[in-house]
Amino acid sequence: MTSKVKSNIMSSVNSHDDELYVSRRSGSRSIKKIIETKVFEGDFRGAVRLLMSDDSFAPGDADTLASLKLKHPDPSRPLSFPPEPDPSITVLSVTVEDVLSALASFYSGSAAGLDGIRPGHLKELVSVSAGENGRRLVGCLTRLANFLLSGSPIFLSAVPEAITSRTQLLLSAQERLKDLSAHVAIILLRMCFALPKITYLMRTTPTWLCPEEVSSFDNALKLVVQSVLNVSLDGPQWRQAALPIRCGGLGVRCARDVGLPAFLASAHGVANLVTVLLGTNGDGGSMPFVSDAVSAWLSLSSDAAIPESKHVQRAWDDIGVKLLQEHLLGGAVGVDKARLRAVSQPESGAWLQAIPSPHLGTLLDDDSLRVAVALRLGCKVCEPHICTCGSMVEADGHHALSCRRCTGRFPRHHALNDIIRRALVSANIPCVLEPPGLSRSDEFVILKVTKGLVKPFFFTVGVPFILLRSRSPTTDI
Ligand SMILES: [Zn+2]
Repeated sequence: MTSKVKSNIMSSVNSHDDELYVSRRSGSRSIKKIIETKVFEGDFRGAVRLLMSDDSFAPGDADTLASLKLKHPDPSRPLSFPPEPDPSITVLSVTVEDVLSALASFYSGSAAGLDGIRPGHLKELVSVSAGENGRRLVGCLTRLANFLLSGSPIFLSAVPEAITSRTQLLLSAQERLKDLSAHVAIILLRMCFALPKITYLMRTTPTWLCPEEVSSFDNALKLVVQSVLNVSLDGPQWRQAALPIRCGGLGVRCARDVGLPAFLASAHGVANLVTVLLGTNGDGGSMPFVSDAVSAWLSLSSDAAIPESKHVQRAWDDIGVKLLQEHLLGGAVGVDKARLRAVSQPESGAWLQAIPSPHLGTLLDDDSLRVAVALRLGCKVCEPHICTCGSMVEADGHHALSCRRCTGRFPRHHALNDIIRRALVSANIPCVLEPPGLSRSDEFVILKVTKGLVKPFFFTVGVPFILLRSRSPTTDI
């Protein structure tokens, strides 16, 4: 056992000279697999943390040894002081001492807040007699204060820089997202990198007053979406992509569309509380930028109304989304109008909501995702060419969905038949798929029990494709 352990240690030491410890970039293949596995398991936070991490294996050289010694100095020697603060970081922050000083500045007997906790209570809880628990509490209060200070700019002049930092973060994620499969990348982009990174900022600051920076963020978002999906989006297509999934988009929302609804909902949600706080101090009850936001909202369109539930962001957002939908429908004709109406149906975007997982069969390969998105948004799928069946294949790729020689047509049909058959079997309804002797290949036989008698009946399954030229006139109405 001892010799085995020594052997393992020596082999581990010797391997430092080999190229075993590769950089993160050269090991990107395994990293990619790990990230995708985390998404498959629904661990988006872990996937994003790993994706954006710059950590890598340290090389086994003298520099690494020196840096390790710096991090773990000999206890018998004097400990080195921590590095000087970075002067380039201008974020306002507080220390534990600042928090303690602020708490001590309250006079004894100061009135309690809305929660009933008096400053005297806090003073006692963080006093020396409170011991370890007191130190933990003051540490938590310090982190809370720093979170509030760093999360949102206090003055308008700092808002552009805050938006720009979010834009740079989005662009920095672009190259890393390209290493992942497109389905995983678009899910991470939608749920972690795009709007979620700027939502807090939009709810707390007047971002609509910084149109250039907001436009830069939206342009960067469009760039990343095009890069991930490998499709080219023109103006109307990008506007549709920025709609919520329930309204026919991809759910990759633009900051331009969400900024005002987010701020207005947040402002109205906290209005009562702020009025009470400011009224208590005799500072009045007006909140800055709210009236400007309402004016900007009403100036968007003559149909822009004030919702009943002012504190609900979706209530404001739905009005803007409806206006955008009507604008897109008004500018579309024929097949495009039919497509826009079809993708607005509730079930049409269910596949975009599914967590990609190869184990559940919900992970789309890059090409399938590209075609599915292109059909949803009306993008160019391919170069026009002649199909093997002799028909002309347009750039929209619609011919492949109705071509009699299309290889995917029958598997899709069989898959649909099988889903319905399994649903019936799950409901304890006897069902026979494609019984021999019937002329149609897509017929079922269901043995229906009525008053103790077993009666078979048949039905067929067919899926009308709304983008077919022959069906467009009906769906276009
Ligand atoms: Zn064909």
